[in-house]
Amino acid sequence: MRKQIAAANWKMNLSKNEADSLLDQLVASELNLSENQSAIFAVPAIYIPLAIQKLAGKQQMFVAAQNCHQKANGAYTGEIAASMYASVGVNHIVLGHSERREFFAESDSLLAEKTEAVLAIGSTPIFCCGEPLSIREAGTQNSFVEAQLKNALFQLSADQIIKVVIAYEPIWAIGTGKTATSAQAQEIHAYIRSVFASKYGQTVADQISILYGGSVKAANAKEIFSQPDVDGGLVGGASLIATEFTAIINALKS
Ligand code: PEP
Repeated sequence: MRKQIAAANWKMNLSKNEADSLLDQLVASELNLSENQSAIFAVPAIYIPLAIQKLAGKQQMFVAAQNCHQKANGAYTGEIAASMYASVGVNHIVLGHSERREFFAESDSLLAEKTEAVLAIGSTPIFCCGEPLSIREAGTQNSFVEAQLKNALFQLSADQIIKVVIAYEPIWAIGTGKTATSAQAQEIHAYIRSVFASKYGQTVADQISILYGGSVKAANAKEIFSQPDVDGGLVGGASLIATEFTAIINALKS
């Protein structure tokens, strides 16, 4: 059974006190995570020690990084290596979020390097893909996303690809309040799975968790997550509100 995942992306939000209070509320919430479900919190790097301390001993709850550098170490002022995150207990790293692609010029080839760096130290990349509005309007979203996956991930072996979590995030739905319909999400998630099946075989493709991201909230999570090829969500805005994110976690398929 594929892992069902609710991943929070806090982005560059919250003061230390706000982060502290949100984590306290989440820890105190009624969460029923089964063995194949996870809640993952991609917090700003500076709050990682705080989040690790607050979530200590919580089953199926993990702290993630929002990015990492592609090199193992060296003269890269201001950067953080995947192994550094692992050394403090962070084994999930979000890669290629559309904001990083847009504002930090992250290319597919750079993301290929970052993905390999994360896998090389035994951590889990949460690899983001997704099309802008113009591509959706032109109806070419499948080939656009397929190219992102091929360019950044197809150098990986089957053993490696099953360790990658995919987050499909249509850019037009991120932070806009517009959500893909559950039918739109299912259609492209099934397509993404077929892209992996054609390269690695159906058995491998069936093991890859594919998350949906784009204005997921408590009110729409259950409907979106109920789709057969949607294995949870990557959540921005709604992950900053404890009651919202708790409801999203509890909307995961079991
Ligand atoms: C995101 O940042 O990955 C995201 C999906 O944001 P939001 O849920 O706010 O649309």
